[in-house]
Amino acid sequence: MRIDIATLFPEMCERVLDESIIGRARRAGKLDIRCRNIRDYTLDKHRRVDDTPYGGGKGMLMQVEPIYRCWESICEEIGGKPHTIYLSPKGSVFCQKKAIELKENHENIFLLCGHYEGVDQRVLDEIVDEEISIGDYVLTGGELGALVIADAIGRLCDGVLSEDVCFTEESHYNGLLEYPQYTRPPVWHDREVPEVLLSGHHANIVKWRREESLRVTKARRPELIDAAEARGELDKKDKAFLRTLEEE
Ligand code: SAM
Repeated sequence: MRIDIATLFPEMCERVLDESIIGRARRAGKLDIRCRNIRDYTLDKHRRVDDTPYGGGKGMLMQVEPIYRCWESICEEIGGKPHTIYLSPKGSVFCQKKAIELKENHENIFLLCGHYEGVDQRVLDEIVDEEISIGDYVLTGGELGALVIADAIGRLCDGVLSEDVCFTEESHYNGLLEYPQYTRPPVWHDREVPEVLLSGHHANIVKWRREESLRVTKARRPELIDAAEARGELDKKDKAFLRTLEEE
């Protein structure tokens, strides 16, 4: 899996991608995430990448040619077209399912970060496979979105986390939210770690975690429970536990 981030602010992206788990995985060669400066692909001697919009209006738009040339150079490097995503508040909202789908279906992903008022539509029509938003709000640029997507995909890649269970047992992976977690000390500010977690009884711990996962999901995101039920992912015990929650 290779991810290319096309941006006007590669240093901003590099700084984030150099840190922590993703940074270590990149240095160990387990993750191939590269940042490209779109400005390097302009033919303008002032390295200009933006211009005023036709029809008037405030702000500037990113021009077609530097973006297209940047994308073409990556196509040449990889010998084909990468799956091309434009970060946009008009896109479909990113989620864990999408991260898994992208990781499983694409060897090369190109993340295009807009800036200013956005990007000339023609280059989007020419190269983009899909538009993704990271939420219903407007950011100054696509960099934070690209970093969110690169991180969410990156941690699913082989060898990035110590074991697959590190992500398969997390919120959203199985459609539910994660159960509460605790570490030492066993008592803090009179708050005790639930006894079952100290019991060493594996089956009881698994049961408790499943029930707490259902409890927190039902309380905070009831629509996720409905969706899990519709997918047939709740068994008899889950449904019985949910009924007791309703009675409570
Ligand atoms: N004029 C655009 C509109 O109203 O849809 C917004 C442009 S925004 C100021 C500049 C850039 O930030 C966009 O081109 C996009 O790449 C990025 N961006 C802004 N909000 C985003 C979001 N919610 N998700 C992903 N990218 C976003």
